[in-house]
Amino acid sequence: MDFRLTDEQIALQKLAHDFAEREIRPIAHEQEKIADPALRFPWEVVEKGSRLGLRTLALPEEMGGAGADVLTLCLVGEELAWGDLGIAVTFDQTWKISHFLHRLANDEQRARYLPAFLEDHRFHLAVGSTEPNAGSDNIVPYNSPDAGMRTTAVRDGDHWVVNGMKHFISNGGAAKLYFILFRTDTTKGVNEGVTLFIVTPDMEGFTYGRVHEKMGQRLSQNAELIFENCRVPDANRVTKVNGAMEERKRFVRGSNIEAAATVLGTARAAYEEALEYARNRVQGGKPIIDHQAVGFLLADCFADYEASRRLLHYAAWTANQDDLYDPKIGFMTKCFVSEASFRIATRALEVWGGMGYMTEAPMEKYLRDATSFLHSDGTNQAMRIRTMPFL
Ligand SMILES: Cc1cc2nc3c(=O)[nH]c(=O)nc-3n(C[C@H](O)[C@H](O)[C@H](O)COP(=O)(O)OP(=O)(O)OC[C@H]3O[C@@H](n4cnc5c(N)ncnc54)[C@H](O)[C@@H]3O)c2cc1C
Repeated sequence: MDFRLTDEQIALQKLAHDFAEREIRPIAHEQEKIADPALRFPWEVVEKGSRLGLRTLALPEEMGGAGADVLTLCLVGEELAWGDLGIAVTFDQTWKISHFLHRLANDEQRARYLPAFLEDHRFHLAVGSTEPNAGSDNIVPYNSPDAGMRTTAVRDGDHWVVNGMKHFISNGGAAKLYFILFRTDTTKGVNEGVTLFIVTPDMEGFTYGRVHEKMGQRLSQNAELIFENCRVPDANRVTKVNGAMEERKRFVRGSNIEAAATVLGTARAAYEEALEYARNRVQGGKPIIDHQAVGFLLADCFADYEASRRLLHYAAWTANQDDLYDPKIGFMTKCFVSEASFRIATRALEVWGGMGYMTEAPMEKYLRDATSFLHSDGTNQAMRIRTMPFL
């Protein structure tokens, strides 16, 4: 096996790292403290990232993107999250949904939306599944007519009339194009009763609700999406009627793996800060790094980081191999890496002692950010359920 990265991957990794160092880190810690979550989104930095080609990285070259494979997206995502997890998630979400544009949308839909997506540096994408009463039930899923999403789309001629709401949606309120799952058959479970549509903010009856306040990942924006007799043309239907779950499963790969790569970037940043602090902080007559108790904390961080990175690179590689791809590798990678990242951020905070807990120091932000992927992209319990070998 050859684990070396290609020259192109190394170049993109460096580009993302330099961008994180130059543009993201200088603003992240202050900007995430802006009180109103609706005013916090770092548009200026996100736009600069787009001008470097980061926003359209996942689209194939023939569609105007950079054609980055899952491993390359992981490398770039880790570096952006080393700068700030929220900003990395903003890009990662758009990459993930670029795969929908590429693999699920039809030619006519691509012709309508792709030019604007390519030209507009503030054109981000979002996907909506979760609702106040349906989170894991959509993901496990609990496939019963009385469970799962309740936002319905009812056919009316060449349109669908949509009513209901989604919440927690990443890039919600910031995105210009949404892929949303609606219930199109309430007599069936989500596996057979859900259809994927494209929705745009100009559609009558589609509005934004609250922008959610969050513990971490505060520079990404999550919002409620509200549908009140919203008329969505059938031309915006992406999958077969009631066929969304099946088609999504067949065509979309790597999303959990890419998500895991971002949170690992946060963990690496925390580990690096812990190492630096341990070299300089003197207690017991010597730098604390020379105390074995602190050394163990750092060694465990290193082991968790390296194990996560190896697993991620393998998982990302399999996502691009038709004969090796198995979604369960993605689910478990997300579980393992998010939990390892949480452990790293916790230990790194311990290395900083009491200062680690103070908001004037960088460490508590890393821990808050690292918690997000225990829940986001499906809870780790939902991931485990989907990995159980007898399912
Ligand atoms: C930062 C962030 C970003 C997000 N972005 C998006 C987005 O862009 N689009 C989107 O659609 N959603 C998004 N979500 C929503 C996310 O996917 C859900 O929060 C997640 O799937 C869990 O759903 P829930 O919050 O309703 O929790 P629940 O499903 O209510 O779960 C509560 C607890 O019960 C457990 N549980 C639930 N069902 C079972 C079961 N059958 N067996 C055992 N345990 C179970 C869960 O693991 C969890 O511990 C985001 C969430 C976060 C935190």
